Amino acid sequence: MGKKCLDYINDLNDYIDGQIDSDLYQEIENHLKQCENCRIMIDTLKKTVSLCREGKELKELKLPPPLEKKLNDMLKKHWQEKFGK
Ligand SMILES: [Zn+2]
Repeated sequence: MGKKCLDYINDLNDYIDGQIDSDLYQEIENHLKQCENCRIMIDTLKKTVSLCREGKELKELKLPPPLEKKLNDMLKKHWQEKFGK
């Protein structure tokens, strides 16, 4: 323990991309087992990633507002880096 959900958000992106070291992967897996918030977030992230690939806007995110904001910020940054938008 020690880490909070928000501390995981930046890592979740790499987790989904599969670009993460195995210790951290395991840590996230363990966290997901006990944390519904992050499971929802992973689910949303995956959907969001496919939406982004189709060029659609991020809408209908059903997350607690602090997570949603953080997620949105992270995704914006991520997609800007990836596609230079
Ligand atoms: Zn969590």
